[in-house]
Amino acid sequence: MRQGDPWAWLFPWPPYCLGCGVELPGAPVTCPAICPTCHRQVAFRPRSRCPSCDRPAWLAEAGRPCSECRNLGPPWQAVRALGPYDGLLRRLILRMKYGEEPYVAALLGRLLAERVAAWPRDLLVVPIPLHPVRLRERGFNQALLLAANLARVSGRLLAPHALRRLRRAPPQAMLGAAARRSNVEAVFAPRPGWRLGGRPVLLVDDVLTTGRTLASACQALRAAGAGPVFGAVAAVTPLWPGAASPAASVPVPGRDPGEEPARAWAGSSSDRAGAGPAVGGGALLGGLWGDAEGLRQS
Ligand SMILES: [Zn+2]
Ligand SMILES: [Zn+2]
Repeated sequence: MRQGDPWAWLFPWPPYCLGCGVELPGAPVTCPAICPTCHRQVAFRPRSRCPSCDRPAWLAEAGRPCSECRNLGPPWQAVRALGPYDGLLRRLILRMKYGEEPYVAALLGRLLAERVAAWPRDLLVVPIPLHPVRLRERGFNQALLLAANLARVSGRLLAPHALRRLRRAPPQAMLGAAARRSNVEAVFAPRPGWRLGGRPVLLVDDVLTTGRTLASACQALRAAGAGPVFGAVAAVTPLWPGAASPAASVPVPGRDPGEEPARAWAGSSSDRAGAGPAVGGGALLGGLWGDAEGLRQS
């Protein structure tokens, strides 16, 4: 029996790490836990990142918006991510979305709440909605699970139905740059008659690729009278010199773009190595780019 844990009588077995499965006797049983080693992998963020979308950037671009943000002109104030879409963080997101383990969202939502702890307390938490057809297929909206856990942990108000998705976006890889932009612009709309009265909003999604989905949702919220819009995503796809833009990558048949973008950089093999705490490409490049940072740094 664990000392000092009021729920130990109900859960006599110790909690285990969601990343590597190691037992964590000191962790609370009321929330999915992660060991320090896996936590460092999930919260890996190179020092050099885009100030607008939190995307890892090469040192030459330090302090400047990344190429995706320069193309897009993002309407949000800032986006923060747990880390690059790779390694253990990517595996956890895939388990949450496709592996019938939606409870992973409790862990990622809690880590996201820590990531945006410094932002205003009155942010209204709004998840990116799924199209109704996709929602029926999957049975849950992973962005809503993340948003609900973020809101609960941080004490912010959740607005799960603030936005509606008008249509499923066709694969953006098949469109030109101008068409891609207009393709996203009409994907979301605010609920009819809904007015936000200048309230600031925190949009939540699982993965940020080009940023066009978030930008479209942002514009819909601004049309409903929202104040400044921030974004929190579990992961952001990195851009590497010479790598194809995620928007230009070949989509997986039957999936929306951005659902699972094609791999664009080295280190991908670690993702298929099973559930063990394999060192992701981000960690491999850590020596080049910098150390894993604490969650409280923005
Ligand atoms: Zn672990
Ligand atoms: Zn950016």
